[in-house]
Amino acid sequence: MSSGDDDRTILLKAETALVTAGRDTKAQKGFVNPPVVHGSTVLYPTADDLHAHRGEFQYGRHGTPTTKALQQTLMALEGPQCAGVGIAPSGLAAITTTLLAVLKAGDHLLVCDNVYRPSRNFCNGMLARYGVETTYFDPLIGSGIASLFKPNTRAVLIEAPGSQSFEMPDLPAIASAARAHGAIVIDDNTWATPLFHRSLEQGVDISVQAATKYIGGHSDIMFGTISANAKTWPAIQESIRLLGVCAGPDDVFLAIRGLRTLAVRLAQHHRSGLEMAGWLAKRPEVLRVLHPALESDPGHAIWKRDFTGASGLFGVVLKPVPQTSVDAMLNSLKLFGMGYSWGGFESLIIPFDCTNYRTATKWAPGGPTLRLHIGLENVEDLKADLIRGFEVLNAT
Ligand SMILES: *Cc1c(COP(=O)(O)O)cnc(C)c1O
Repeated sequence: MSSGDDDRTILLKAETALVTAGRDTKAQKGFVNPPVVHGSTVLYPTADDLHAHRGEFQYGRHGTPTTKALQQTLMALEGPQCAGVGIAPSGLAAITTTLLAVLKAGDHLLVCDNVYRPSRNFCNGMLARYGVETTYFDPLIGSGIASLFKPNTRAVLIEAPGSQSFEMPDLPAIASAARAHGAIVIDDNTWATPLFHRSLEQGVDISVQAATKYIGGHSDIMFGTISANAKTWPAIQESIRLLGVCAGPDDVFLAIRGLRTLAVRLAQHHRSGLEMAGWLAKRPEVLRVLHPALESDPGHAIWKRDFTGASGLFGVVLKPVPQTSVDAMLNSLKLFGMGYSWGGFESLIIPFDCTNYRTATKWAPGGPTLRLHIGLENVEDLKADLIRGFEVLNAT
């Protein structure tokens, strides 16, 4: 299983790497899983070692055998472009730590208009306060982004597809324009994960995960990761050290456990999500389904070119009906829960509306919008739940 010149399993297929990487069976006394190291103090055997800061582990915040196992596993999944993986206590903390790592006062930042709303809030709030100017751009801008670069444009933040509106940016085109201007490209890769979208191989410098979602996979942790290439890893490491960013050992362990089964879970989310999306597209109550893996979706060609799968999260635009009818439908559902953080084993549904916060583009979908997460339940049960819901919608 060795790749020859290092202990990373980069030559293995992703599914195998997810199972084998980061496992030092000997150090684990034969156990399959790493110990959950609860630790702050690391003792040095001699004064000389202490003076020299010698030792694989030196301080709890800087890493433990548990965090090392997670980092090695994620690096094996990301591939050879990944020079290091930073760990953060949430997906949002991974994004803010990354932005603080690459930006300074006087810089200009380009942000895709469909990014996660709290990412925008950070740009408009703290980054603005510290003298970083943000310009939002149309997710469908493609290589047209070249005209938005200023001499001080330092970074571009993308989400593909946006986790509410599901437009699919042309990431390689945007990345190549950014590279021509010397700007760093950051991809919030939470929707597809590095299993279905290898963004570091498509010109992205830093791939960020809300590991709270599919990597955790069981709706039981808050966690974030930052996968950086060789150019940006030193800045990420420095930012993590200066800010004091770290995560609790139990959450690190659960993230490792989630990675071990990521491939089978995501394959099922892909299959069930696509089946439900196709079924919903044929419902008389539905105007449009926002799912890049559907052939009818405007982002389909880009998805097919750049991704190897889709996750279970997509949007539905209903034909115009009063919000009270939509609410009655939501209240009637038994299997679809209403909640925000997706990526777990359970199906979810929420209404969403991007109208109030988008600035570069106008959000006018033509009817009330719902975001669905298709979990690991049987799809026939999920369809039956939605059929009941549509009956309530139509009756009110
Ligand atoms: C959930 C989410 C985040 C934030 O992750 P948390 O762990 O909840 O902080 C960031 N980006 C995307 C796309 C998300 O869906």
